[in-house]
Amino acid sequence: MARVKLSSTDMLEKLIGFDTISHNSNNSLISFVQDYLDGYGISSKLIYDASKKKANLYATVGNPDIEGVILSGHTDVVPVKGQNWDTDPFELYENNDLFYGRGTCDMKGFIAVALAKLPEMIEANLSTPIHFALSYDEEVGCVGVHGIAEHIEQLDVKPKLCIVGEPTSMKIITGHKGVCSYHCSVHGKECHSSLAHEGVNAVEYAAELVAHIRSIARRMQKQGPFNKDFNPPFTTMHVGKIEGGTALNIIPNSCEFGLEIRTVPEQNKEDIMAEINDYAFRYLEPNMKDIDPQTGISLRETVYTPSFNIANDHEAVLLLQNLTGANHTEKVSFGTEAGIFHAAGVPTIVCGPGSIEQAHKPNEFIAHEQIVKCEHFLTKMLVTLK
Ligand SMILES: [Zn+2]
Repeated sequence: MARVKLSSTDMLEKLIGFDTISHNSNNSLISFVQDYLDGYGISSKLIYDASKKKANLYATVGNPDIEGVILSGHTDVVPVKGQNWDTDPFELYENNDLFYGRGTCDMKGFIAVALAKLPEMIEANLSTPIHFALSYDEEVGCVGVHGIAEHIEQLDVKPKLCIVGEPTSMKIITGHKGVCSYHCSVHGKECHSSLAHEGVNAVEYAAELVAHIRSIARRMQKQGPFNKDFNPPFTTMHVGKIEGGTALNIIPNSCEFGLEIRTVPEQNKEDIMAEINDYAFRYLEPNMKDIDPQTGISLRETVYTPSFNIANDHEAVLLLQNLTGANHTEKVSFGTEAGIFHAAGVPTIVCGPGSIEQAHKPNEFIAHEQIVKCEHFLTKMLVTLK
């Protein structure tokens, strides 16, 4: 592709046009970005998933032997099915300075502004390089970004800062809770309900485990650990989905449920799981197996996004405060890829245009004013990094 200059909103229009709902391929968006960067002589490293239908992109503007700054975003978006949209979600539509489309705020808006700054980045002849890190499958549990983290871990010179441009209305987010989820299957033994004592009631064993989970959650709410920067200031845990049984006169042989835990940085999810496992495998399961050794419980992790927490006086935070003009910072309870960059040894901050209020909803939009704020932020960053 030849060198093309696009405004932030032109770029946003291009990016919104790719239907990158997480279950779809993101290859066409990634090759568009690769071609665009290539037009400026910037080569991209693509890190594919096993199916080769999805890729992360990592590219560096400037000297890779100097510690740089990562601008990071996920390219996938949440589904639109069942949502009532007034416009085509995969076409950018403007009305009253609001730009509508799936992913406008979460989070192609940030990616668009960052990519549109490329000509300025080249002209600025930066002494501190800028890295673009675009991931896949963030919305289904921060899956793709692990490939980028592995790439970063292998670099001789690691970036000194990562900015994850999730929609925060350009507020500086210096920490979020860890998010992990588990799928639990309880395998019981079916029989006629008149002979209940001969069966293993999967629904009831699941219910006992759910009640135990609830009691741990209640204790954490009362006894902590606490971190007053978060709302709520303790770890939360809940069972949000459960399914089991077929008829009232059959002792059910199967029950499945989903468990989610959101940890404050002071809380170790392994400690919570040790308590749950203890109850499931040392108390419940032996009782089940006494009736039928074929029965049992299985518990597997489905999603894990670590928490992150950066000190308010960290130089990265001070830099961001200078660039955005914001003088305060916040912690949030929703998970992002920040925890994974942070764990890879890169100080990370979440800060991007648009409001989380509009994310994942029908008629998702980003305000033009937010795009402009983000443009100013990146312009100032180029001057500061020079
Ligand atoms: Zn997002």
